[in-house]
Amino acid sequence: MQITEIYKSVQGESTYAGLPCVFVRLTGCNLRCTWCDSEYTFQGGRKMTVAEVRDEVSRLSPGGGLVEITGGEPMLQEREVVPLMQELLGHGYQLLLETSGERLLAGVPPEVVKIVDVKCPDSGEADTFAMDNLRALNRRDEIKFVLSSRADYEFAVAFTRAHDLARRVNAVLFSPAFRKDATGTRDSSHCLLDPQQLAQWIIADNVPVRLGLQLHKFIWDPAVKGV
Ligand code: SF4
Repeated sequence: MQITEIYKSVQGESTYAGLPCVFVRLTGCNLRCTWCDSEYTFQGGRKMTVAEVRDEVSRLSPGGGLVEITGGEPMLQEREVVPLMQELLGHGYQLLLETSGERLLAGVPPEVVKIVDVKCPDSGEADTFAMDNLRALNRRDEIKFVLSSRADYEFAVAFTRAHDLARRVNAVLFSPAFRKDATGTRDSSHCLLDPQQLAQWIIADNVPVRLGLQLHKFIWDPAVKGV
């Protein structure tokens, strides 16, 4: 499979935020979200076998631990990445899969926690969510909306309620988008939607969701990759 990078850091998003985690970042994406902070994954990378990826994961986190498979869009390489998931599960790793929601997820092993985006209008990739994926979700999975405006928020609330997401999955995450050219200060001034504003909307509307911040962008310079 084509791999952009493998590194160890602290998980920045989801209910696993704050935990040490090895990231396996696959190359390539078929979407072009306006605020994408992973454009460097669109090309390049290097070819690695399942065994080579497993060995690198095991060097960084011997004997188990948390691993996130991300991208780019990892499910574009489903034929290679599903065997990798099976291999890592067999070696005792706990797996997260971060995916755009555009690819079908029925073939993902059930032990893998899926963190699935539903793209909002301001991403420029609205209507890409594969609705069949609602049936592939289970109570350990998480759904994430990245928001840059009130219109995005209203879309996310309507989708959450229409599909009763809070009862289908472990967490529904509402996360402010970050400016993709953010650099320097490690604070919320780089958010395209003020987290305080988002918090006030969630409280006022009593929406059953979790406000998420990209923790790594408050720990390291937001421009730094591989952290
Ligand atoms: S799906 Fe993810 S990697 Fe692809 S363009 Fe959108 S944010 Fe970037």
